[in-house]
Amino acid sequence: MRQRLSSEPDRYRGRRRVPTVPGSRYAAVITTALVGAGVVALGAGAAMDDAKGVDSSALKNSLDTASAAAEDLADREASAERSTRDSERTESTEEGLATSLSSSPDAWLLPLHGYEFSAPYGVRWGKVHPGIDLAAKEGTEYKAVHGGTVTLAGWYGGYGYAVIVDHGDGIQTIYGHSSQLMVKAGQQVDAGTTLGLVGDTGHSYGSHLHLEIHLDGNTLDPITFLRDRGVDIQSEIEPIYGSVTAP
Ligand SMILES: [Zn+2]
Repeated sequence: MRQRLSSEPDRYRGRRRVPTVPGSRYAAVITTALVGAGVVALGAGAAMDDAKGVDSSALKNSLDTASAAAEDLADREASAERSTRDSERTESTEEGLATSLSSSPDAWLLPLHGYEFSAPYGVRWGKVHPGIDLAAKEGTEYKAVHGGTVTLAGWYGGYGYAVIVDHGDGIQTIYGHSSQLMVKAGQQVDAGTTLGLVGDTGHSYGSHLHLEIHLDGNTLDPITFLRDRGVDIQSEIEPIYGSVTAP
C-alpha cells in the first residue's frame, strides 16, 4: 500500500479543478413553474369567463398546485445537490482533501502518473485494440480509477497478470500486463487504491499498463469515458477533489 496524498504534495501541482454545478438551479425552476402556472390560469380564466373576469379561486388552486410541484422539484434537486455539497465540505483542509480522494464513492482518478500514452482504443493494424496503453517504467504503481470490488487478480491469458474491478452499474475496468499484483479477488478498493505494478507480462511489447473499460459487457474508449468523469488521460489531468460525477 502506498502513502496517501498528503505526503505527495507535488502530485497536484498545476492540476486543474473541474468546476462544480452552481447551486442556484432550483431557484430558477421554482420561479419558472410559478410564473408558467399563473399565465396558464390567467389565460384559462379569461377564455372561460370572458367579460365576467378571472375566477380567482381557480387561479389560486392552480398556483397552489404549481407551488407544491415546485417544492417537490426543489426537494429532489436539493437532495441531489446535497451529495455534492457533502463532498465539497471536506475540501477546506489538507486532511479533507486526502479523505475525499480516498473515500468519495464518486471519485474517478487517473490509473497512474508519469506515463506516456502509447496506443489508443480502437482498430489498430487491422485488429481491434479493446483498451488504451500507457507506457511506464516497470514497477510503477497503478491504481483503481474508481471504487469497486476486485473480481479477478491473477494470470489472465494475453493480459498477463491482470486485475479486474467491478464498479457496479455494469461498469468494469481491466488492468493488464502487470509485473506484480497488490490486491486479491473479493477485495474492496477505492479510487486510488494501488492494484499492482506496471510490467510486461502476457501479450505485451514493452512495459505498459493496458486499461480497458467495459459497460454492460462491451468495451468503451477509456479516453472519452474518463473525460466525461473529469479525468483527462491524454493531458494526465484528474479532478483534484475526485468529486466530479458523471452527467
Ligand atoms: Zn493494450
